[in-house]
Formats: sequence, structure tokens, C-alpha cells
Amino acid sequence: MTDMKIGIVGASGRMGGAVIRQVTETSGCVVAGASERLDSDTIGKDAGEISGCGVLGVEIVSDSATLFKEVDAVIEFSVPNATVEHSFLAAETGCIHIVGTTGLTEVDEDSLKEASERTTIVYAPNMSMGVNILFALTRQVSSILDKDFDIEVVEMHHLGKVDAPSGTALGLGRAAAAGRGTTLEKSGVLSREGITGVRERGAIGFATLRGGDVPGDHKVIFAADGERIELSHKAGSRQIFARGAVQAALWARSKNNGLYSMLDVLALN
Ligand code: NAD
Repeated sequence: MTDMKIGIVGASGRMGGAVIRQVTETSGCVVAGASERLDSDTIGKDAGEISGCGVLGVEIVSDSATLFKEVDAVIEFSVPNATVEHSFLAAETGCIHIVGTTGLTEVDEDSLKEASERTTIVYAPNMSMGVNILFALTRQVSSILDKDFDIEVVEMHHLGKVDAPSGTALGLGRAAAAGRGTTLEKSGVLSREGITGVRERGAIGFATLRGGDVPGDHKVIFAADGERIELSHKAGSRQIFARGAVQAALWARSKNNGLYSMLDVLALN
């Protein structure tokens, strides 16, 4: 099989750079295109140079429409509104779309679902293997324990993160809720402040920390009278997300149209 041509949207972002480096280190795929927002000062520059892996001969462009026509798969870690627009370019061109952007609303997610009727989309708030195992464990532990165990999700990220709680924390909350046969919409308490009253039985609480350069720490606590179970994951580098995203692109090559998650990619479903 010929090498898979991968395009990177958000090429000069923190994750875009990590993805470019990862593609260059992975066999079976090549960096075949890169795009950035129109007003980025990296337009016209070499994607490899910008990401610190040497000249690749791939110019960063602002025209994502052409990018989607020219590559087999696009990996995107950008912002929600651009991601949704791009999913429709993926649908029009049949290009595989790997979406790591977080902070998507339910309406945005419905748009991805609609686009996935015409192409293959993998969408995951966290692309690391470890976190996806944490999703599966959280669901399992939550299904075993009753509501005497209070569930709290704690996360910490670098100071540049703009959405809260993180997409991963929300995913962990959804996994915990699913294990208990409920939904996050019914049971989630996304933040607390002031006189909150006592904790509601069955609630799934969240706490958000921000600071420094932390790529992503997540912990799910199951706390009862006299004992506590804690499941946690610490990301040491952004490269783990990039590795998962490239793995997802290669996996998606042989899949039918549809909306998939990293649980599908890692066969954890
Ligand atoms: P960042 O701000 O460093 O990078 C985002 C890039 O997208 C920027 O360079 C920006 O210019 C570019 N961009 C914005 N609009 C664009 C457009 N219309 N076309 C092309 N490029 C555009 O942010 P980051 O730290 O790289 O994170 C990006 C997203 O990925 C966030 O939502 C973050 O939460 C998420 N993220 C997800 C995972 C995961 O595993 N799923 C891991 C880390 C980060």
C-alpha cells in the first residue's frame, strides 16, 4: 500500500507541531499538506521547520479546502468552529478527518455526526492510549460501585487551555455516568462555588486546575465512608496525543463511513 498522505490543520499550534513530528517518525504515512488560520504569521513557511523537525518541503497554507482535496486524511487540533466547517469539507471530498479539538458543543458534535455519513471521522477528546484505558476502567468501576461511592473528576492543564472542564474530564464523567446507567446531563456538577449545600447523592462532581505547562492530568475519585478508590493518568508530553491521532488515521483507512472514537481504534469498546 502507498504511504498515506496526511494533512495537518492547525499546523503551527502546540498539537499541530507534535502531529507533524509524529507523522515524520511513523512508517506508512507522510506529511502531505498543512494549513493554518488566514492571519497566522506562519502562512508560507515550511511545516517541518515550524515544528522543529527540519525542512519537509510542505508549505503551510490558509486554504484548507484545497488541503482536504489533496490528502487521504486530515488531522486537526484547532478550534471548534473551524473544526465543524472542516468536517463538511471532509464530507464533500471523502477525506478521512481525525478530530482532536475539544470544547465542541452538542450542536457541533451533531454536525460531525452528519458529516460522518459521507466520510470516516474519528473524534476523541483525548487520543492517548492510557486515557482511553482510563475511560474503560472508569465505566467498569462505576458499574460495580453503588451510589455510596461519590464520584469526583479532577483535572489539571497548562495555563493556555481555554475550555473547562477539559474534554477528557467530561469524557470521564460520561463514562462514570454510563457505568451507573445515567447521563452527565442528569448527574454532572461541573463547578462549585459559595454555599453549595450538601453533596447530592449520585452527583458526579468536577474540579478544574490550571497552571504551568502541564499537558494533562486526570483523576477519577470514588469516595465512600472509610475508603477511596482513585484512578489516574498523567500525560508527560503532548506526543502521546499525536501518536494516537496518527494511529487513528492509519486505522481509519480501512473503515466505512461513520463517526468513531479512540475506543474503537484501540478495540476497547
Ligand atoms: P494551539 O492554540 O496551540 O493550536 C491551535 C492551532 O489551530 C493554532 O495554531 C491556530 O492558529 C489554529 N487554527 C485556528 N483556526 C484555524 C483555522 N480556521 N484553520 C487552520 N488552523 C486554525 O492549541 P493546542 O494546544 O494545539 O490545542 C488545540 C486543540 O486540541 C484544543 O481544543 C485542545 O484542547 C485540543 N487537544 C486535544 C487533545 C486530544 O488528545 N484530543 C490533546 C491536546 C489538545
